[in-house]
Amino acid sequence: MSGKDPKNTRPATRVTQAGRRPEWTGPVVNTPVWRASTHLYETEADRKLAGKSNADGGFFYGRRGAPTQWSLADALTQIEPGAHGTVLYPSGVAAIAGCMLAVLRPGDRLLMTDNAYDPTRSMASGLLKRLGVKAEFFDPLDIGAYRALFDEPVRAVWLESPGSLTMEVCDVPAFAAVARENDAVTMIDNTWASPLGFSPLEHGCDITMMSLSKHVGGHSDLMMGSASAGERWYRALRRTSQQLGQVVSPDDAALAARGLRTMAIRLEQSTASAVEIAKWLRQQPQIASVLCPMLEGDPGHAIWSRDFTGGCGLFSFVLESDDPQACGRVVDELEHFGIGYSWGGFESLALPIVPQEYRAVMASPTQPGGDTGTKPAIRLSIGLEDPQDLIADLAQTLAKMDHK
Ligand SMILES: *Cc1c(COP(=O)(O)O)cnc(C)c1O
Repeated sequence: MSGKDPKNTRPATRVTQAGRRPEWTGPVVNTPVWRASTHLYETEADRKLAGKSNADGGFFYGRRGAPTQWSLADALTQIEPGAHGTVLYPSGVAAIAGCMLAVLRPGDRLLMTDNAYDPTRSMASGLLKRLGVKAEFFDPLDIGAYRALFDEPVRAVWLESPGSLTMEVCDVPAFAAVARENDAVTMIDNTWASPLGFSPLEHGCDITMMSLSKHVGGHSDLMMGSASAGERWYRALRRTSQQLGQVVSPDDAALAARGLRTMAIRLEQSTASAVEIAKWLRQQPQIASVLCPMLEGDPGHAIWSRDFTGGCGLFSFVLESDDPQACGRVVDELEHFGIGYSWGGFESLALPIVPQEYRAVMASPTQPGGDTGTKPAIRLSIGLEDPQDLIADLAQTLAKMDHK
């Protein structure tokens, strides 16, 4: 069997085939785990050649990976429309740092969406600030205010859509177009949708990253991240990553590749369950609002329907209660939801959230009256359990609230 051309297939087919080159798999289905620091050469001339070319997929030394990592990176490139290549990182946050360091230089201005993942915000106010990068936050629902920030030169824009915790959907093509008109680079955290649900490079972005710890791993047992881009930025990402000495373990790469094979069907199932559960939650008297762009009537639904081809199991809801302790009681009483960070695994999770603590310019749906009166909120990651069991579980814990 020769390598199949993935371009002619649909995404569900592609995730089953991508990255499985015969020269990497040999006669078996999955690329084996190549554990290696040293790569051996036949001759001194071969060693010199390998050192000189620094080619993708060329044996050289363990830090540049071996077939297990190349196979995963190749698979991620094949499922990312518009990508020339993909760089793997030891975590999603490491991928974010890899993107930032590949693009930004001292004195640069970075515009960051105000609903970015909290560690991304911390990177802007910590590491990047120390390196002389000035970060400013913008409201991803206010393109006028965003455009006004380009009065001074902007080097790069960081997007994330739907945004962390509160799930607002940004008009990515419009925001990326403003950046492009102003010679700024657009980077996006696409962890929520994955390339199966949204293709950033086809919507005007230059670099897209995701945490593979979430949907790709899918089983809550590995940490990894990736960034993909067209040729120019892929080269910059790769060079920066090599200079930082970043490498992922072949064992984890093999696990991630295994997760990828079932990602399409897992996302489809958890999306369907999440929509069913979110619709049910919306009807409950203890709930003030459900923050889920996959639902009709959600403020982000129109753009989500226009730009996205799929969803996932992650959404949030706000309680009616004014009691800050209410969330803790609700999640403590849940039987089928774990309490924990991360998401995108086969098992459902519930996490109390306080999004207003991580906003500089946007209003938070958990603060309907401005600074006065905040409402408790919970983020759910819906896994692969039967949604009826999850609804029954939520029903029993919400019913207990009424007696408190
Ligand atoms: C989890 C997450 C990350 C970071 O990924 P890690 O693999 O945990 O480092 C980045 N962005 C988003 C939106 C996330 O949810």
